[in-house]
Order: sequence, then structure tokens, then C-alpha cells
Amino acid sequence: MFSNNPPLTPPLLQEGDSRMAYTGRFAPSPTGPLHFGSLITAVASYCDAKANAGQWLVRIEDTDIPRIYPGSEAHILRSIDAFQLEPDAEIIFQKDRLEIYESVIEQLHQQGWVYACQCTRKMLGSNHIYAGTCRALALPFAGQAIRVKVDDQEICFDDRLQGRHCSNLQRDLGDFVLKRRDGIINYQLAVAVDDCLQGMTHVVRGADLLDNTERQIWLGRLLGCPELQYMHLPLAMNDQGQKLSKQNMAQALDLTQAPQLLQQALRALHQPETELDAPAQMLRQAVAQWDIRRIPRGTALQGCYL
Ligand code: GLU
Repeated sequence: MFSNNPPLTPPLLQEGDSRMAYTGRFAPSPTGPLHFGSLITAVASYCDAKANAGQWLVRIEDTDIPRIYPGSEAHILRSIDAFQLEPDAEIIFQKDRLEIYESVIEQLHQQGWVYACQCTRKMLGSNHIYAGTCRALALPFAGQAIRVKVDDQEICFDDRLQGRHCSNLQRDLGDFVLKRRDGIINYQLAVAVDDCLQGMTHVVRGADLLDNTERQIWLGRLLGCPELQYMHLPLAMNDQGQKLSKQNMAQALDLTQAPQLLQQALRALHQPETELDAPAQMLRQAVAQWDIRRIPRGTALQGCYL
């Protein structure tokens, strides 16, 4: 268990002293314009934070430069404005924080938790579980992928909607990549570092990210960060039964229809009706009525076809 393998001391990341009882966030990646599925996440994370007298932050996750879709960052920012979802602090952009992630990798290196890996995806075999081939090779870091070591223990968390979820990272995945060979910082590292540095207490996001959570918990522990509470929302589907995503061309939100879309998002989350009004008024009402017991369990929103 982890008690035999304590987090690094002193903690690699020192989060602020002013940790609140609830700090949540919406953390979209600009790999396409916001679609209805992302609106559900934005609205749920906002209402849950506000209903718990918390603060709500926005973070743009734009480290994966080749996957950035032109114009989508602007559409995300315009959408946040149009839905009158007002963040409690300035929006941060991960592409401005690369030095922070690099320095975390460097500190993990000094502690012996990361190593360079020259294996290609092909070499991993069909199950994609990394066997730790390069762990002992002490390869130079330049031009190689950087992996973090995991160990043979069950990591579990109690999701507020989905219940208990566990993974043994060594058995299910193996040492995983923090920085790709092309120099791109992996999403798992950037999320874990920023959730910690921003003093996040709660994560509300789509159930497509459920299986990423144990990796982020593992990194959080290595970095000496407090554990978070997770809530993974069921996903909206298209009429072919696929989750709405940028990959399958989910429609961009039509910002001229913000009140109507907001009403649909609240319906998809099975929240009580709000009157059609300016989004700020609707959100105020939605926060006052927010009840997570009404959100459907499971990872797909049945009958929510768009
Ligand atoms: N940036 C991720 C996405 O857009 C979400 C990250 C998170 O909420 O942890 O899918």
C-alpha cells in the first residue's frame, strides 16, 4: 500500500494556504469548438461549485499543440461569456505553464520516479501495457519519451456518481508517459499539477475520463497533493449512440441559442426546470435547485440524442 511508499517529502508542489472547502473547474481542450457534451460539463461543474458555496475556475488545456483546432479556443471563450458562466479567477492556459511541468518532471527525476523511454507504440504489443523495458536503462532524456514509474497496488476512489472505481496501474497500464518524444507534455501530468497548484478540491467532468483518474491520483500522491473528490458525468450521445465528441464532428454550440441550450443541458442532467431567461438568471435558479441525486448514474445519458 501507499503507506509503505510515502509521497515525496517535502511535497514537490506546495499549493496555496488558502485552500477552500470547494474549488472546482471546467478544463476544456481546444481540440474543437464547444459542443453540447462540453456544455453539460461546464454547467454541472459550475452549479456544483456554486451550490456548495465554492469557487469555479476555467483552465484551457492546450498543451497538445498538434491537436489544437483553429478558432476553437476563441469559441470556448465566447461560449463561457455567452452562457454567463463567470469564473472566479482569471482563466489560465496550460501552454503558458510549460516551464512548471518541465520543472516537475525534473524534480521527479531527481527523486528517481521518471525515466526516458525509447520504446515505440508498436513495441508495446497488442495490450498496450508497458512492461517497464527501459526502466533500468538510464537513457538520456533528450529526444525520448519520459515515463513515470507506477507500482503494484490498487488505487481506488469513490466517485460521487459512479461509485467505487479502482485500478492497479502496473497491471492495467504500466509506467505511463508524462512527456512525449515530440516534447508535448501529457494531459495526465498537466491536469495533476494544475489541479494541485490551483487548490482544486472537486473535479466534475465527463465519464470518458473515468479511467484516467487513477493515473492522476497516482501523480497527485507523488507530488504530495491532497486527494480530490470526483464526479464523472454520464455522456450525451449522438443519434448513432456515440458520445458527442470533436472526433465525431459534434455540432458547435450555437451561441445565439444560449438560454435554450442551457435549458436542454439542465434537462439532460435531470435538474428541475428553470424559466427561459438570460443565462445568468437561469444559472442562479439552477444553482438554487441543484441536486446531484437527480443526475442519472451510468456513463451514458439515455435518450439524450442530439
Ligand atoms: N481537457 C479535458 C478535455 O477537454 C478535460 C480535463 C479534465 O476535466 O480533467 O477532455
